[in-house]
Amino acid sequence: MGGTFDPIHNGHLVAGSEVAHRFGLDEVIFVPTGQPWQKTGRAGSTDGQQHSARDVSPAEDRYLMTVIATASNPRFSVSRVDIDREGNTYTVDTLRDLRRQLPDAELFFITGADALESILSWQDFDELFSLARFVGVSRPGYELSATHLAKHLRELPADTLRMLEIPALAISSTECRARAAAGQPVWYLVPDGVVQYIAKRGLYRSWPHPGPSVS
Ligand code: ATP
Ligand code: MG
Repeated sequence: MGGTFDPIHNGHLVAGSEVAHRFGLDEVIFVPTGQPWQKTGRAGSTDGQQHSARDVSPAEDRYLMTVIATASNPRFSVSRVDIDREGNTYTVDTLRDLRRQLPDAELFFITGADALESILSWQDFDELFSLARFVGVSRPGYELSATHLAKHLRELPADTLRMLEIPALAISSTECRARAAAGQPVWYLVPDGVVQYIAKRGLYRSWPHPGPSVS
């Protein structure tokens, strides 16, 4: 499961847990995206969104929060493949690297309803689907469908893309950042250790944009 994870929250964890249960997966690997280039991201990045470098917390903070959040689950792990590669993250690179590291594994790429379309709409379908099966999970506020993909989907082998209803958690990292910035609690939206890490590192205090410096 790829994501910016800025911060990782309980919606991500429920998605991973539910897909692992439903598909009988041995392991769920959370893959924080690399640090975007200064200007902008591009559609098709692992979380399907555009980011500029200054919007996103340092990769090491996002990585450590992901480690903290997943540490207690023996089936959850965290990969550095995207963080250790320079620049914007593209799903095809993530999957190529994981495939290289785990040549015998059957890979499933887990993504929320909002990110699914943009991930799949511009990249090379054939290559993506040769590397992994895709699982789109429901997310409150977004329709779980791949209507724009329909014409391609008809040509796809069965089982390359599955849609899954999961327990609804209306949580987003954007909302968590806004709450932290406003001094509102993020307890129970993110794991306890992540609440403490955010406070310890002073993350999101000036989110979304640091004010102009006064001289
Ligand atoms: P942001 O608000 O910064 O975009 P986010 O909450 O969307 O953050 P991401 O790191 O962008 O989190 O998402 C990583 C993956 O997790 C994406 O595939 C996204 O669709 C999925 N996801 C995020 N939140 C949920 C949720 N509450 N339920 C289901 N899937 C989710
Ligand atoms: Mg997102």
